Formats: sequence, C-alpha cells, structure tokens
Amino acid sequence: MAVGAPDPRRRVPRTDALLADPRLVAAAGSLGRARVKAAVAAAQERARRGEISPEEVAAAALATLPAAPGGLRPVINATGVVLHTNLGRAPLSAAAVDAVVAAAGHTDVELDLTTGRRARRGRGAMAALAAATPDAGAVHVVNNGAAALVLAATALATDREIIVSRGELVEIGDGFRLPDLLESTGARLREVGTTNRTTLADYAAALGPRTGFILKVHPSNFVVSGFTSAVPVAALATLDAPVVVDIGSGLLAPDPLLPDEPDAASALRAGAALVTASGDKLLGGPQAGLLLGVAELVERLRRHPLARALRVDKLTLAALDATLQGPETPTRQALRAGAGELRERAERLRDELSAAGHKAEVVPTAAVVGGGGAPGVELPSWAVALPERYATQLRLGEPPVVGRVERGRCLLDLRCVPSTMDDAVRDAVLRLPRTGD
Ligand SMILES: *Cc1c(COP(=O)(O)O)cnc(C)c1O
Repeated sequence: MAVGAPDPRRRVPRTDALLADPRLVAAAGSLGRARVKAAVAAAQERARRGEISPEEVAAAALATLPAAPGGLRPVINATGVVLHTNLGRAPLSAAAVDAVVAAAGHTDVELDLTTGRRARRGRGAMAALAAATPDAGAVHVVNNGAAALVLAATALATDREIIVSRGELVEIGDGFRLPDLLESTGARLREVGTTNRTTLADYAAALGPRTGFILKVHPSNFVVSGFTSAVPVAALATLDAPVVVDIGSGLLAPDPLLPDEPDAASALRAGAALVTASGDKLLGGPQAGLLLGVAELVERLRRHPLARALRVDKLTLAALDATLQGPETPTRQALRAGAGELRERAERLRDELSAAGHKAEVVPTAAVVGGGGAPGVELPSWAVALPERYATQLRLGEPPVVGRVERGRCLLDLRCVPSTMDDAVRDAVLRLPRTGD
C-alpha cells in the first residue's frame, strides 16, 4: 500500500455500531444475535478485502441473512436471462402459486375421494401432462431433468451400453456433466462419431447385443457450426434400438418463438421411444423431470425401485398441474415481450430516474433464454444503464434487483421483469444515493 493512502481497515464500521442498525436489530430478533453477528463479521471481512465499500457493510450482512427463518429472498430478475439457474429458473404463474399454497395442507394426492381408496399419485398432473403431449403413450414425473435421465439409464441400460454422439457429451453448468451422470448408473457409454460430425452409419456400427438404448442429447449452452452433421431422431428410429431423446429445454410442442428448439411432440412423432425434459425450463413450471414416451417403457420406469427415490412431492405436482392448465406462464411472457414495448418501459423508467438526479440511459441489449435452452438465440431487448456501482447496491437492497454488468455499466434489462414490477425497480433505485452524491 502506498505511503499516506488511507488504510481501508480503519474505515470498516465497528461491530457494535453495525449491530445497532435497526434492520440488523430486527433480524437478530427473528434469527438470533449469534447468526446476525456472524453475518456482520463476514461482511466486515469483505470490506477489509475491498470487495464492498464501508458504507455497504450493514446491507451486505443483511443480504446474506434470510428475510425470515428458513426463507429464500425473492429477487427481481433484471439480468436479461429468462431462465437463470442462480435465480431459480422459471418463476411460477400466479395460478401455480395458488395451487402450491392450496396443496400445502392435507390433500387427496394419493386418495380417490369417491371410493375412499388409494389412487395413483398426482393423477391430476399426470392427466394434464398426458393431455399436453398426446403423442406420448404414457407420462411420468420425477424430481428434475437429471433424475429423468438417471432413471432411464438405470432401468434400461445398467450393465449395458448407451450409444451417444461425441458431439452431444455436454456439460450443462456448474460441473454437471451428462456423461458422468449416465456412467454413475452403471451404464457404459459407447461414444460414436466426432465432435462436429456423426452419421447414421456410426450409430449402426455400434449397435449390438449389449445396446441398452441410443441417446440423443440437445447440446445445450453451445452450438457447433461449420462442417457439421448430426443424425435426426427420425433416422435413428429406423435402427434396432429404443431412442431416448433428452431435449432438456422442456418445450412440449413446437413454438414459433424458438423455431430451432427441440420439442417433445416432434421427437415422439419422429419415433423417439422416450423423451426426457425439465419442468422449470421452457415449460415455465416447477423444478421437475418429465418422462414422456411409449407406454410399456414409461411403465417400466415408473415401477422401477429407483423411481421412489426420485418421486416428486405434492407441491410440485400441484404447480405442474396448474402450469399445464393455466394461463400463459411468466417465462413465455418474457420470451414473447415485444422489443418496442420493452423500449417504452425502459424510457419511462429512465425519465423517472433522471428526474430524481440519477444518471440513467436507455440502451438496446441482447437477452438470452438461458437454462441451457436455445443456445445462440438472442432476444432483442432494452435496458436502463446506470453507473456500475449500482449493481452491488441494488443487489443488496430490498427487494434485491439483480442486473448485469456490461462494459463498466449496470444494465437493468426489462425482458424478464414483469411490467407490474417496474415501479418496484424504480423505487429500488430511488432509495440509493444519487449519481455523484
Ligand atoms: C437442463 C438439462 C438437463 C438437466 O435438467 P435439470 O432439470 O436441470 O436436472 C439435462 N439435459 C439437458 C440437455 C439439459 O438442458
């Protein structure tokens, strides 16, 4: 440190001063003093390392504490990433939220009220899913997309081979590698083709008595372009083995908004024996893994002992049912929002913030689907750009607003912000010190 420069450690607020902050006093009342003290110590440490400013210590401590014991904090997603895994992917529709609340008490999840006998678990959600995917002979729901794959691999390919293209051995995110997941079930991967090109002959040559199934994976998060070739499901279905298609994204039927995204109906019509997908990606519902396919195969999975360990709870079933039956999901609304409308909202927000002395500008941006869906697709969007320091301050506010930092500016992208939340975003900014203060 240069001689004469102020030592940042001297400026970090003292513990007793921080613990007297009314917000932290309130937090100590519900969470206990020890927990709040630990959060304060961690925030002071961050300030000493220069990660946050001394003025941000109390808010930073508060931000690491739950709003209530055990609670997760609701945040406003201004990142421009529609399905942001760190922000819980799809927000539930109001109808799905109501369904979750209603199901929180005792429910008829496994009881037929007319006969008084045990009934198939979650039959309402299963019926809704079957109705939404008429090309599937049967459907089943597990904990998430990864669980759907594990169940398929365990039931159909333990001690056998899964034939898969080298171009589709993907890592989804946070170190989740599909090949490792599949091999953890005791299945052996029979890799065919190359990173950029795999042909039907490659698959055909790998078929044999040990084949469990052929797997086709939606290579989420990236695209291979140039000298490439991949084999469509319809061609794979001419081979003598069941074809399992992991679409990941959760699109049940073709959607003109995302014309290149694979969907369950098309895969089943092309001859897939089984399709696996996530419920909280493009379906816009709760975290869940969907298994859709030939009745005999789905039934085998449903009756496999492992199915019990992957079973979903009543809250998920309620949310899934309501998502499938209900009005358009917030996820689809975010995908569909018109750029012109987003620009107008951004301009209104900019005007309100500028009038209050904040340095705000309207800028065009490129939002993305995220969550492994529609790699390479950019959704034209609009954001309010603020000085970079706002990013941390807004994240530490209540409610936290999560923007994205790009080229030294904090962008609040409105594509994933419901228009009813614009005032909440404005108020969050207005609570901060003005630019230059
Ligand atoms: C997201 C994804 C998964 C995993 O689904 P989760 O619901 O996150 O467990 C598997 N395969 C593909 C292709 C995906 O995109």
